[in-house]
Amino acid sequence: MRRDRRAGLAWLGVLTICVAMRVWSGIVEAPYLATIAPYMVVSAGVPIVVLIGTLWHRPPHRAGWFLLFAAQVLYAIADGMTVYDSWLGGYLEPTPADLTYFLYYLLLCAAVLVFIRRRAPGWDIPSGVDALVVAISAGLLSWIYVLEPLTADSGLPLNAKLTQAAYPVLDLMVFILAIRLVMGTGTRGAVLYLLLGSMSLMFVVDTAYAVEGIADGSPASESYLDAMWMISLGMLGSAALHPGIRRFDQRSDTALPDASPGRLGMLTVAVLMAPGVQFIQWLFDDPVSVPLISAACAVMFLLVLARMSGLVAAQRRAAVTDSLTGLHTRRHFTQALAVECRRSARTGHGVGLLVIDVDHFKQVNDGYGHPAGDQVLREVARRLTVGSRAGGVVARYGGEEFVVLAPHTGPDELLALAERLRTEVSGLPVDVGGDLLAVTVSIGAAAESRPEPDALMRTADEALYAAKAAGRNRAVLSPSTPLTRRS
Ligand code: GH3
Ligand code: MG
Ligand code: MG
Repeated sequence: MRRDRRAGLAWLGVLTICVAMRVWSGIVEAPYLATIAPYMVVSAGVPIVVLIGTLWHRPPHRAGWFLLFAAQVLYAIADGMTVYDSWLGGYLEPTPADLTYFLYYLLLCAAVLVFIRRRAPGWDIPSGVDALVVAISAGLLSWIYVLEPLTADSGLPLNAKLTQAAYPVLDLMVFILAIRLVMGTGTRGAVLYLLLGSMSLMFVVDTAYAVEGIADGSPASESYLDAMWMISLGMLGSAALHPGIRRFDQRSDTALPDASPGRLGMLTVAVLMAPGVQFIQWLFDDPVSVPLISAACAVMFLLVLARMSGLVAAQRRAAVTDSLTGLHTRRHFTQALAVECRRSARTGHGVGLLVIDVDHFKQVNDGYGHPAGDQVLREVARRLTVGSRAGGVVARYGGEEFVVLAPHTGPDELLALAERLRTEVSGLPVDVGGDLLAVTVSIGAAAESRPEPDALMRTADEALYAAKAAGRNRAVLSPSTPLTRRS
């Protein structure tokens, strides 16, 4: 068995035994130190396991994992202080343990932020918007069910109130970052889900702890809550031991997240939460938080709208952009040609059109393979863009055929443009994996005033055939194009 698999199983074994002992000691009401010992083994074990995993697997970027290690060291120290305090029976808030926990949260957030930034190129705004929707929903719940009752409890002194309120707020911050992490692009897999599981469980258990603390007025330390905390810590350790951490913060190629069912489900739950809470408040005759819930609903609605308009814009861009070359698509070109012809019908200006076909392109595919052919197409597209002037439309018409629409262009200008493009393409050989290929194009040109789109296209096509027939690597102006300048 491989070393990391053995280590992962050993950690799982330790975790299972400790959780079982913690639950059992709670049931038989064992003395305090006996109940807390299994918990402390896990708490102190996590930083060690995180360090071992990081040093073994050597992920390419270790900053995030070292931050996580430092955070867990603080967590274990804070746990130790809490145990020591409870053992002595002293309680003064905020205790040094509280301050150490706060520092832990900051380091944990820093670690997750490092992961988020590394995994996606750019800022990945769509994922940020999605995470914000979930954040508003979770924040609303946290305020109504945890923070408001906590701050309303007048029996507590201010420092105790502030200390207790800080935990749900910090938990919420970690939870939101966890959601942001999983909603961003980047490799999926065990490490991501273990980290998400660990942080979400921590959020849930901390919230349960706070709510219970509110309900009976004293901090409850029940064995089941402890067991849950231990499982959350255990998942963090397992994530670091998993070999997937080598690829975990690999930068993804795309900044655009998928509209996966999981993401849509999470957003649906988040958006429905606010009206759901209001309905429950009304059902149980609780005071209804109308301004708060209305504001949350409004902001979430606006965020969803912003996301929708972003998606529509991306869709529109995709429809008019050729995925291989980045040029405009045939669809965009056809629309632009129609618009230009209508304009010319009103004003009488000349519309120039070039149809460009790569010479003997089949030989490139046959001799060097399809990927090399694709590379040649990308390079030809780049050279055509460089050679054509601004204001024209350069598009991939299909296969290895390109078109250039040049409005306000007369015949001689158009022919000059065609020559410029031809020499731009054939000027330097194209490098495909070390082989230098001479690439040439044949160009058919047509310029007319008040043309019909289809007729203009046909005329340019005929000129292209003439260029091919005359020996290729040349530009031919359609004979039907009048030679006097008309622009
Ligand atoms: P000619 O000088 O007469 O134009 O000769 P040709 O070999 O270029 O002939 P033709 O225009 O008929 O060849 C088109 C070839 O382009 C056939 C097809 O396999 C190839 N092709 C079309 N689209 C693509 C593409 O997206 N990638 C690659 N690699 N090849 C493509
Ligand atoms: Mg060809
Ligand atoms: Mg062709």
